[in-house]
Amino acid sequence: MIPLKSQKDLEVLKQSGAILAHVMRQVEQNIRAGITTLDIDRLCHELILKNNAQPAFKGYKGFPATACVSVNEEVVHGIPSPRVILEGDIVSIDLGVNYKGYFSDMAVTVPVGSVGPAKRKLVEVTKKSLELGIKQARLGNSLSDISHSIQSFVEAEGFQVVRQFVGHGIGKELHEEPEIPNFYKPGASPALKNGMVLAIEPMINMGTWECLLLDNGWTAVTKDRAPSAHFEHTVAITNNGPVILTQ
Ligand code: MG
Repeated sequence: MIPLKSQKDLEVLKQSGAILAHVMRQVEQNIRAGITTLDIDRLCHELILKNNAQPAFKGYKGFPATACVSVNEEVVHGIPSPRVILEGDIVSIDLGVNYKGYFSDMAVTVPVGSVGPAKRKLVEVTKKSLELGIKQARLGNSLSDISHSIQSFVEAEGFQVVRQFVGHGIGKELHEEPEIPNFYKPGASPALKNGMVLAIEPMINMGTWECLLLDNGWTAVTKDRAPSAHFEHTVAITNNGPVILTQ
């Protein structure tokens, strides 16, 4: 069952998303060469608490940190560490908050300093693919319209869509139904309805879509170690079209 949110639920989810977007903007402004991924995690933690929310990922299925920080070939679920951010890196930050029992989820990929043209294009295409997917998150469409719009754009630009990880419903839980693949999956696809809230999150690789899991049990890297980018918004489907809650 895909949970539908009431107007009252949506009001608190909007506040949750606004806090997350506010925190993310400040974190983005502080990313630079020379800091570590652990520094980023500490800043995320501090800012979430300062805004009267709770980190949603810390302790989730045993995840040890507030933020997932994934650099270059790391796709998702990078564990913050003493790894130093270098000029030319692309750094994906995935962050979730719980505000009064309502979850929101967001990711951005930040180019650090002067980044080569191929990596820059990867980041721009991934960001644009999320925008295109969100445009399809409207009544009259099915979930697969979101997936199809992301995949067709990304592949036309010469990149590949990660298959092992997908977006998800969100609200009173961090992960709810439905799963939201960023690629076409044959078979029935649920119709989009007023009150659905979706975390749409394309993960796009420069080379092969295939990923491997590192020995830490969390961090996914590209099989060919080519770079990967990730953007995510929490989006409500309403009678007036998609509403981005994390903006
Ligand atoms: Mg997510």
